Amino acid sequence: MLILGIESSCDETAASVVEDGRTVRSNVVASQAAEHNLYGGVVPEIASRRHIEAISGVAAAALAEAGVRAGELEAVAVTFAPGLIGGVLVGVNFAKGLALAAGKPLVPVHHLRGHIAALYLTHPQLKPPFLCLVASGGHSHIIQVLDYTRFRVLGRTVDDAAGEAFDKVARTLGLGYPGGPAVAKAAAGGDPKAYRLPTPRLEGRYDVSFSGLKTAVLNLVNQAGMKGETVSVPDMAASFQFRATEILAEKLMLAARETGAEKVCIAGGVAANAALRSLLERDCAALSAELYLPSLPLCGDNAAMIASAGYYEYLAGSRAGPDLNGLATLPIDYR
Ligand code: ATP
Ligand code: MG
Ligand code: FE
Repeated sequence: MLILGIESSCDETAASVVEDGRTVRSNVVASQAAEHNLYGGVVPEIASRRHIEAISGVAAAALAEAGVRAGELEAVAVTFAPGLIGGVLVGVNFAKGLALAAGKPLVPVHHLRGHIAALYLTHPQLKPPFLCLVASGGHSHIIQVLDYTRFRVLGRTVDDAAGEAFDKVARTLGLGYPGGPAVAKAAAGGDPKAYRLPTPRLEGRYDVSFSGLKTAVLNLVNQAGMKGETVSVPDMAASFQFRATEILAEKLMLAARETGAEKVCIAGGVAANAALRSLLERDCAALSAELYLPSLPLCGDNAAMIASAGYYEYLAGSRAGPDLNGLATLPIDYR
């Protein structure tokens, strides 16, 4: 069963054909990151315009690379929430038009359910239930994946998302956008114990927070500047990454222990972080839990993950009509 996925919720215009929810037949991603780098972050108005320019070509390329005609598709799946609304609407309207023209069902997909589905593409044998950390540019959730389309949120960030904190620290350190890979690269040459950065104390047992950590970095950089000094960028990047990944790993492993999870997963852009991956490899081995990591190209935004999630939503009976609207926010456990 072939599903075409469409993704345009942030700064990647993407389309992909996936077979039976598990096999990637094509995966085309046109990233706008280089242009947004000029402004230090994503400019929504620019993003929307670039999506409009790119989407037809990206979708055509995805079909061509897969060697599939629109008529051979079972359905068209599209990210309809959450995300930058201008971008989301470009994908939703393109997908509506394509589905209508090809006479195929339209399947709405929640972007974070898509990030989780990247795991199904990486691990053909992985099935729910499992515990999953979704850490991305806009979200940091600890989620029980009960079934392919049923989710329970155990914890979340009370302020900034993990990826957002990486992006803001990168900006503070003059490392550019997107910040995650830049901070990770700088951290490779630094001492993670050089700066003592705070650990948040939170009421929610599985909640996380990154705003205090981000502000601590900013304050140290500013204080050094006022004294005519500079912080060591590699040391600060390493110290921040050390604390940020520790915060995520500790809460995920606490949830794993207390819920008796046998399978532990991570997803979203921050799942590409090598320090986080190795922390969890150590901790999951100690707990005798199986750890599943998404392949690196599927951590960030792509449409293969949307097509995979769309396959399971389709099997569960989810359909949208020509009145489908895009939404800037929507909880992952919506029904
Ligand atoms: P959301 O999925 O919440 O809507 P998004 O789609 O913008 O947000 P993703 O594309 O999933 O987010 O992930 C991008 C985020 O991941 C950025 O904040 C980026 O800095 C971060 N990121 C990417 N690679 C790494 C890395 N190696 N280490 C840490 N963070 C990373
Ligand atoms: Mg992006
Ligand atoms: Fe994303």
